[in-house]
Amino acid sequence: PPRMRFAPSPTGSLHVGGARTALYNWLVAKKGQLDFPNSEAGFILRVEDTDLARSTKESEASVLEDLTWLGLQWDEGPTDTIEISKYGPYRQSERGNIYVQAAEKLLEEGKAYRCFCTTEELEEMKAQQEAAGIPPRYDGRWRDAPEEEVNKMLEDGKPFTVRFKVPENSRVVIEDVVRGTVGWDAEATVGDFILLRSNRVPVYNFCVAVDDALMGISTVVRAEEHLTNTVRQALVLDALDAPRPRYAHCSLILGEDKQKLSKRHGATSCNQFRLDGFLPDAMINYLALLGWNDGSDNEIFTRDELIDAFELERVVKSPSVFDMEKLKWVNSQHLKMVSLPEVVQLVKQQFEFENMLKVGTDDSDLAFINMSYAATALARERMQTTKDAVLNAKTVFGYDLPATFNDISDAEAKSMIEQGNFYNLATRILSDFESDVFPIPDASTAMDTFQSEIVESAEKPQPSEFVGAYKKYMKTLSKEMGVKGKNLFHPVRLALTGEMSGQEVTQQLAILVMASADDTCIDAGK
Ligand code: GLU
Repeated sequence: PPRMRFAPSPTGSLHVGGARTALYNWLVAKKGQLDFPNSEAGFILRVEDTDLARSTKESEASVLEDLTWLGLQWDEGPTDTIEISKYGPYRQSERGNIYVQAAEKLLEEGKAYRCFCTTEELEEMKAQQEAAGIPPRYDGRWRDAPEEEVNKMLEDGKPFTVRFKVPENSRVVIEDVVRGTVGWDAEATVGDFILLRSNRVPVYNFCVAVDDALMGISTVVRAEEHLTNTVRQALVLDALDAPRPRYAHCSLILGEDKQKLSKRHGATSCNQFRLDGFLPDAMINYLALLGWNDGSDNEIFTRDELIDAFELERVVKSPSVFDMEKLKWVNSQHLKMVSLPEVVQLVKQQFEFENMLKVGTDDSDLAFINMSYAATALARERMQTTKDAVLNAKTVFGYDLPATFNDISDAEAKSMIEQGNFYNLATRILSDFESDVFPIPDASTAMDTFQSEIVESAEKPQPSEFVGAYKKYMKTLSKEMGVKGKNLFHPVRLALTGEMSGQEVTQQLAILVMASADDTCIDAGK
């Protein structure tokens, strides 16, 4: 049964690449739990905080929070209590003794040795090797040191490091699930590397190998940049008589300019995607596609479908390009799968992210829900992220007429608006709107009707009671202003939403009026 691990170093927030690694591990683990019920199959979260200078508790907390948001819940991890977990603790900083014991066992078995070289000696060795044009590597001078000499140094209390005895003429060959056969000449590649520093602090690769062995990890899925670490890790695993896990090293994720994805490409941290109005299920769907496909044209997967369809063997070796537009499209597809009341909740949360929630007023919550309904209803069909609904609402409630008009670059649209006498029309609607000329029978009943209809129909909002009233209003308006058809509706829509296309204007108006009938919490125009 697959025991998979995600092993973040808590030195920053969770980024796209890390999230994809976590996801691939999680998917294999979840499938394993279905295939082998009641087994130890699982997704293990191991915090690799050996770099004490760079690791922080805040960063660990944020990584855990982002994984939770993505729904990549771990079965074993640092949130477990030590008593109940047979494989823990799950923070490397809490496993110091385990590594020391492992090193001592290797010493006893003659698979590691003590090296008493001073820093000066090592520097000299390096300088000499560089001068001779050979790559600097520990020359093994304590590898076969006589026992008396070693004991003498120990008696004198001399500091020592514990070094791994790389077996002679050894080659490390792995069958990487993604990269195929990869091999290294171990002696030439690594030399007798350090396991424990002179202060007994273990080195990173030793910790990883010990942990993978003791935690019974079956498959290691991680980023390509860790491929060369595999040499040291595999050698240590062999020495510990632990089976090597399968390895799958995933290729880089690139920005659209084919450079390694980084901050300058825009949002790369999971938290930013959350704030920008993406759904966790959409993120997961898109991340899965960054280097994997199921062999068909299918690109939209639910979580369960992914668990079922995902195969490590189908992860591609070529780097993938992060495509923001595609992610937005995937998100729009997932938004369509969510029921309207749920989208409304998400939009409400989005208002909170945008700091547009006025807290402290008694009815702020109700008004806010109203607002979210309205914004959602207005934007639902076209929205790619929940942020779109909020931006739409911002335009609706805080538009700036001249700016809106000047922003229109399309000549045809411009002339149409001029013919429709946009300014007069917009001004007139606005003043009607503000002075209650709109025939609103009773705002609170209106809102109730609207909400129940919108929730029940769960699709296109049909505030029927009002549609009639607004149609009538528009008719009067058309007559009085002498404009009709698109010359009437386009300017009205533009006045209301700042957009030239969208839902039927009557509906937009109805929604808008009803939303603002209850004091809205939108800080207009800001
Ligand atoms: N701690 C490493 C990282 O954050 C992962 C190493 C591994 O998966 O083996 O990149």
